[in-house]
Amino acid sequence: MKEENNISRRKALKILGLGAAATVGAAVFKSTPFLANAYAQSTKASEFDTNSIKLVDKKLNYRNNDMISMIGFGCMRFPTTGDGGRRAPVDIEKTQQLVDYAYAHGINYYDTAYVYHGGKSEEIIGNALRKYPRESYFLADKMPGYNVKVKEDVPRLFEEQLKRCGVDYFDYYLLHTIQDIKSYEKVYEEFGGYEYLLGEKKKGRIKNLGFSFHGNRECWDHVIDKHDWDFVQIQLNYIDWDIDGEYLYKSLEKRKIPCVIMEPLLGGRLASLSKGAEKILKEKNPDLSIASWAFRYLGSLPNVLVSLSGMTYMEHLVDNVKTFTEFKKLNAGEKLALNRAIIEYNKFKRINCTACRYCMPCPYDVEIPSVFTVYNKLVMDSNIPSKEDQSAEEYATKREAFAKAFREEFASGGNATQCVGCGECLEKCPQHLQIPDLMELIKKPLEG
Ligand code: SF4
Ligand code: SF4
Repeated sequence: MKEENNISRRKALKILGLGAAATVGAAVFKSTPFLANAYAQSTKASEFDTNSIKLVDKKLNYRNNDMISMIGFGCMRFPTTGDGGRRAPVDIEKTQQLVDYAYAHGINYYDTAYVYHGGKSEEIIGNALRKYPRESYFLADKMPGYNVKVKEDVPRLFEEQLKRCGVDYFDYYLLHTIQDIKSYEKVYEEFGGYEYLLGEKKKGRIKNLGFSFHGNRECWDHVIDKHDWDFVQIQLNYIDWDIDGEYLYKSLEKRKIPCVIMEPLLGGRLASLSKGAEKILKEKNPDLSIASWAFRYLGSLPNVLVSLSGMTYMEHLVDNVKTFTEFKKLNAGEKLALNRAIIEYNKFKRINCTACRYCMPCPYDVEIPSVFTVYNKLVMDSNIPSKEDQSAEEYATKREAFAKAFREEFASGGNATQCVGCGECLEKCPQHLQIPDLMELIKKPLEG
């Protein structure tokens, strides 16, 4: 099976005009009729030069010799139609353009899940990738253990996922968002979920089996040695490193388990920092985007196989491709600058929402992640009113700016003021945010 896979991957690379050299580091290749045709179907030729494309760098998965692009395409933040935000239907045409651009530039890892985009992500990415040889990309999907109520749900959901994606195997398959020992034990041990998925791996319908993690250290220690995992997906970035990131990363490194990274930008928050932190990074290198520092930080860690990025806009994708083409690790001077920027950035107290939307929908239509995004932006702009720390005049100015920002963002509803504290969102948040309490905190200055 392995040899067959290698042969067909080689064949696929040949079809795409990529020689063996293209699998290591950046490379330039000539466009083939196959690629040119693919572009013509869905992209404007003027958007990129199809004759001379540099590919993003790849990393070797030392457990199975897969060559994986250092940047992976996360499928939970596709562009949506109109101005309806994340609740609106996915813009299929724009998504196809993004996928084509990513694929053409050597991004070969695509990560979806049963619940992304209200259950539409699997089908959308399956359709977007259909025109490419199956062996030329790696598709990752995840068992939604939180939807498993009886043991028959595991095979039912797995079959449904293959069907939604329109594929007959997954390259990387994960137990989605392991958060607590009790529910892990119930679904994957008591119901036999793990045994079932292992059986699918033996049949070749799963090539690599792992899990994605959002729990505490006790849960981690329980799950990590339960089975011989092929890979694990963790949340890691230069802010989380000092929280639990280092613990998880080193634990995987010690066990020689490759690490897939989610939330490299903390739900977009590390794409723009506070003014002081940005100044430090821009002084060091004015040409680099703020987001690129986060990706280079991760790409510099030896056991990170691929960093996933949910790229909603073409400019994000283009910037990420630039970062990972002829990839440069952070040098000593850059590490120092980043450390200074982190210290500066950490002066502000933000809400650790990653905009994953697992808490949605709220029965009272509060746009939870958007509320936190607006709040975090106000934190960065030093516009949080505090009666304890500010003079009456300063408090009034900041309160007005605070209220104005919320009023403008939620003119058509979804504001924190709609929260009744029902607590329905609490259990669903993988970041364990006390959402009702945070809504109360935000409501106070809004309600005067
Ligand atoms: S606690 Fe507030 S935000 Fe959470 S589900 Fe209830 S109303 Fe919505
Ligand atoms: S509040 Fe929690 S569940 Fe909701 S979007 Fe933010 S991180 Fe995700």
